[in-house]
Amino acid sequence: MANNKPMLSIKGLKKYFPIRAGVFSRVSGYVRAVDDISLTIYPGEVYALVGESGCGKSTTGHLIMKMLKPTTGEVIFEEQEIFSLRKREEKSLRKQVQLIFQDPYSSLNPRMTVGESIGEALEVHGIAKGEERQAKVKAVLELCGLAGYHYRRYPHEFSGGQRQRIVIARALVLEPRFIVADEPVSALDVSIQSQIINLLKELQSKMGLTYLFISHDLSVVKHMADRIAVMYLGSLVEESTKSQFYERPLHPYTQALLSAVPEWDISSRKKRIILKGDVPSPANPPAGCRFHTRCQYCMEICVQERPDLKEAAPGHLVACHLVHR
Ligand code: SF4
Repeated sequence: MANNKPMLSIKGLKKYFPIRAGVFSRVSGYVRAVDDISLTIYPGEVYALVGESGCGKSTTGHLIMKMLKPTTGEVIFEEQEIFSLRKREEKSLRKQVQLIFQDPYSSLNPRMTVGESIGEALEVHGIAKGEERQAKVKAVLELCGLAGYHYRRYPHEFSGGQRQRIVIARALVLEPRFIVADEPVSALDVSIQSQIINLLKELQSKMGLTYLFISHDLSVVKHMADRIAVMYLGSLVEESTKSQFYERPLHPYTQALLSAVPEWDISSRKKRIILKGDVPSPANPPAGCRFHTRCQYCMEICVQERPDLKEAAPGHLVACHLVHR
């Protein structure tokens, strides 16, 4: 990876949402949903962003998709900063970067046929219409494990797993190169999840895709990811390869998350680490290390100084005073 040019880089990205209160809706504070994160994703890899709900991982995905404007910071896709693109470059970005939504039930318009939903983008981008459009949609349906004759059917005629295949087909019809997959299997039954995960992996090798894979489910991430970053209260606390993450997690928060993953094999079961208390509010995050209110190893320095995300081993970054003593 080190010799590759990055496909996507995030630098110092922050997203603060204002809290408004009183009759005049004055800003009384900010929810720091994403608070100064930097990361790099290389072509062809699956980069997973994990953490509890509300940690800022979906907001990060929405910022990359330009569904939100950052408070500060940069998102660079193939050497172009996406928030300062001109109209033409913007259109090309829209084709190359696509989002797979979490919920296959609400993300499809019930009044549009599958063909209309998937084919819409081809017309908007002036790529194909009429018979050519129909042929392209049928091809992408088949690529995603559906049939050409599904073209004229409506979303309610499909199961949850099939709907998610339609959502994936819609994301792929423009032949993108980078996919933000935001909890793509969390709304599905466990028995269907592995089918969709296998499909995403198959599509990655057929189409040479790069994924930002957002998930709270570490069992799912294990099947998909090449590298993994852990988010806590809007910040990254650890980033490593998959093997470093599962075999030698260094941050106490990562260790606690992994200890909660069920293991079938009794010999490999870990002692469960129970975290104290709730996740603090991102509107009022603790000083020092953001995790110190729940950390069993908390030291004096942790309350006073925020640890930097630094290398602990090649390719393994951790933000923890305990690790960098
Ligand atoms: Fe725990 Fe301190 Fe490390 Fe934070 S910096 S995770 S409080 S040991």
